[in-house]
Amino acid sequence: MSQQPKQSHYDLVIVGGAIMGSSTAWFLSDNPDFNGSVLVVERDPNYEACSTTHTNSCMRQQFSSELNVRISQFAADFVKNIRSYMGNDERVPELSIRNFGYMYLADNEGFADVLRESQQVQLAAGAATQLMTPEQIKAAYPFYNVDDIVLGSINTVDEGYWDGSTVFEWWRRQAAERGVEYIANEVVAMTKNAAGNTIESVTLKSGEVISCGQVLNASGPRAARTAKMAGIDVPVEPRKRYSWVFKAEQPLDRDLPLTIDPSGVHVRENGGGTYQCGGHSDIDPAVAYDDFAMDHAIWDNHVWPILATRIPQFEAIKIQSEWGGHYAYNVFDHNAIMGPHHEVENFIFLNGFSGHGLQQSPAMGRGTAELITYGEYRSLDLTPFNYERIVRNEPFIEKAVI
Ligand SMILES: Cc1cc2nc3c(=O)[nH]c(=O)nc-3n(C[C@H](O)[C@H](O)[C@H](O)COP(=O)(O)OP(=O)(O)OC[C@H]3O[C@@H](n4cnc5c(N)ncnc54)[C@H](O)[C@@H]3O)c2cc1C
Repeated sequence: MSQQPKQSHYDLVIVGGAIMGSSTAWFLSDNPDFNGSVLVVERDPNYEACSTTHTNSCMRQQFSSELNVRISQFAADFVKNIRSYMGNDERVPELSIRNFGYMYLADNEGFADVLRESQQVQLAAGAATQLMTPEQIKAAYPFYNVDDIVLGSINTVDEGYWDGSTVFEWWRRQAAERGVEYIANEVVAMTKNAAGNTIESVTLKSGEVISCGQVLNASGPRAARTAKMAGIDVPVEPRKRYSWVFKAEQPLDRDLPLTIDPSGVHVRENGGGTYQCGGHSDIDPAVAYDDFAMDHAIWDNHVWPILATRIPQFEAIKIQSEWGGHYAYNVFDHNAIMGPHHEVENFIFLNGFSGHGLQQSPAMGRGTAELITYGEYRSLDLTPFNYERIVRNEPFIEKAVI
């Protein structure tokens, strides 16, 4: 990837070339109505520190808001038909979803009611969510300890693991082949016009000043830092999330759904007798952008005891790999923040995806490309995610945040 941009002006500058930036770039490149020039600036061209490469790579239909269900439904359709979406390009592999489902476990009536209400939303949107009593859970998945469980919720249609890294790679590759320019550089500053309502240029770390028609903030956990360059506050923080892949001495005799324990610890099937587990500290502050250090005490004192209590067969396991990653966590209402700023109108957000941005990338990239091309969302109305709700203090709450 080159460091230098070829031009001094672009119709769109995308700050961040991971999954959200690349999805938008690809949907723009795929739209014959869009003829603009696009520059994607990526500070970490090996994608070592971004959320996209630290992900669990799963999708679910189990959200509490209908819009989030619809967004994941498009993800499922896109993944299952990726080659046809990508112009029947024979180099693009066919993909599928490994439908082990997400199993939400409630240990109190309050959360059970949330699961019941959410199931109604999901069924109305066409998802196949089933509620299960503890006895039904035990019959279907005998390895769980359900002594403290009052209700479970699972859906095994279009819910489970998918290959997010292949989708990401092909979006980047096709977008670049169609003329989107990716550079290895960093946006470090922005200038506005005298009225303060338009971004006129971005400044790169290497010193070049690039004038631009629009700017897209696709900078993941660094969203607030990028917005600050435009004099804008956005309530997105980097929050640390740990992952562990382990091998069980005695693997389970059937697929393990992505199980969300009432404690928040989650674990899923990873194939070949291995499992992937995720968790975080009870104290969950914003961390430094470059702080990915592991805290081994969390596994020993918090995660593993919970795991071995929920699935006693996981008493005997061996960790194979572990890493720390960052959620871009929207502290206002846990939902995406997207679309234009209400005053600086050529500054567009695509931020705050917590632990569900990978599956949202097809719909959010498509929607952002429509907004940039037509000035409106056409396939799915994504306006409830607009920035102005924060200014108006009107949260759009998503209760199913892992
Ligand atoms: C542990 C973990 C598990 C997850 N599991 C799932 C899951 O199962 N399912 C799911 O749907 N989602 C999951 N997610 C969430 C998902 O991975 C993210 O929401 C998604 O990858 C966000 O993509 P992004 O492009 O917005 O951000 P990122 O991937 O973080 O990319 C932002 C990019 O912007 C670049 N950048 C930042 N600032 C600048 C700048 N000034 N100049 C140039 N470049 C810049 C960065 O280098 C980075 O590459 C998980 C996340 C984590 C951390």
